[in-house]
Amino acid sequence: MAVVSNAFEMAQMQFDQVAQQLNLDSHVAEMLRWPTREFRFQIPVRMDDGTIRVFFGYRVQHNDARGPAKGGIRFHPSETLDTVRALAMWMTWKCAVVDIPLGGGKGGVAVDPASLSVAEREKLCRGWVDQIWRNIGPRLDVPAPDVGTTPQMMGWIMDEYSKLVGQYTPGVVTGKPVGSGGSLGRQEATGFGVVYTLREAMKYLGMDPERSIAAIQGFGNVAQHAATGFTELLGGQVACVSFWDRTDNQAYTISHPNGIQIEFLKTITDQHGCIDKDRALAAGYDVEEQDAWLRKDVDVLIPAALEGSISAETVSSISDRVRLVAEGANGPTTPEADRVLKGRGVFIIPDFLCNAGGVTVSYFEGVQNDMNFYWTREMVLERLDNNITRAFRDVLKLAESERVYMRDAAYMVAIERVVNAMELRGWL
Ligand code: NAD
Repeated sequence: MAVVSNAFEMAQMQFDQVAQQLNLDSHVAEMLRWPTREFRFQIPVRMDDGTIRVFFGYRVQHNDARGPAKGGIRFHPSETLDTVRALAMWMTWKCAVVDIPLGGGKGGVAVDPASLSVAEREKLCRGWVDQIWRNIGPRLDVPAPDVGTTPQMMGWIMDEYSKLVGQYTPGVVTGKPVGSGGSLGRQEATGFGVVYTLREAMKYLGMDPERSIAAIQGFGNVAQHAATGFTELLGGQVACVSFWDRTDNQAYTISHPNGIQIEFLKTITDQHGCIDKDRALAAGYDVEEQDAWLRKDVDVLIPAALEGSISAETVSSISDRVRLVAEGANGPTTPEADRVLKGRGVFIIPDFLCNAGGVTVSYFEGVQNDMNFYWTREMVLERLDNNITRAFRDVLKLAESERVYMRDAAYMVAIERVVNAMELRGWL
């Protein structure tokens, strides 16, 4: 098998394998291995120095048979149409596996948001909406935050869309700030969802969370809340987290022999998940280069940064002690690495199940916007726990009854639900 480095090829390869196992008709498989609609557009922005800079924006709607397309907007320098396509496809499976009535979409802009001033970021968000507003909407396609985008940016997107359509429309985007149509519990939803699935997996594997140690890749939204949840909700210990340092363009791992103090590290981390390594060193932390997080002697790995981090090159450095990989990020494990982990008997909580907490609470946010009635944080998190736990158990049950790998079982549950909706709508 050739090494796959393109995220969309990887998403198609995973799909093809399960489509074969499910004996999907070839025309159905062909429909699902490509997005339904794709948009690529220019966003001219007048920069603070008066010059015009042109950015490229994307929105891909993979499938909306089960409801409006749903998925984040990523601001990242290496964003391409293919990463957006892959992420849109994974959104379709994600919404289906947790059984929320939404389809799959994703958007992005090729940009490093940290290189922009606040005013430039706002213009870029508003410019993104100006180009695509006719093709998004509460009943059409609902964006949300992802890597490099924030609740404040979602607030600007909601405001720009509301101005263009002439009425306050909070349901056009989720992940908005609380107080501007956002839901309590949304910020921590993805990371806590990761932890709820971990809790269930540990029960199944007979692991004691209080005696378990995790290594986490990333220290952004997902990773920070997964770390907090792992220590505070499950009582486990986090040995290290890692991050990407833009100043010298490389990854670092921050660890502590007694486990890291998450609340302290948050105080020395910027809004893009970049830790001040000098202050970490001064506080007694070890700072290692590159993929040190992956080599730690731990029970649980939580990749929560970007796709492709557990690859053919890196998988062999994973310690034999690791029993569980909870994929907080989208697509962190390449197909080659996946085969190695499967062969080693490592239990995988596949990305689109593991990190579905964010979209689940995004769905709750849309419901609250529709009702114009807002829930407490406890209500949100309790409903999230119920949804994601039920989804985990559905997948595990199928994995056991069909004797298939967790990732394949999750695909089977999701694909069958999407195909069923397509049939019921008369598309097939
Ligand atoms: P974020 O931008 O808040 O954080 C990303 C983190 O990853 C940062 O700490 C960054 O420094 C780190 N990072 C980037 N490249 C790295 C590398 N090579 N090595 C180590 N660290 C690296 O992003 P986020 O919202 O936390 O998203 C993380 C992942 O989770 C992405 O794959 C995203 O698609 C997925 N996801 C996010 C959500 C959500 O609600 N935010 C929901 C579902 C899935």
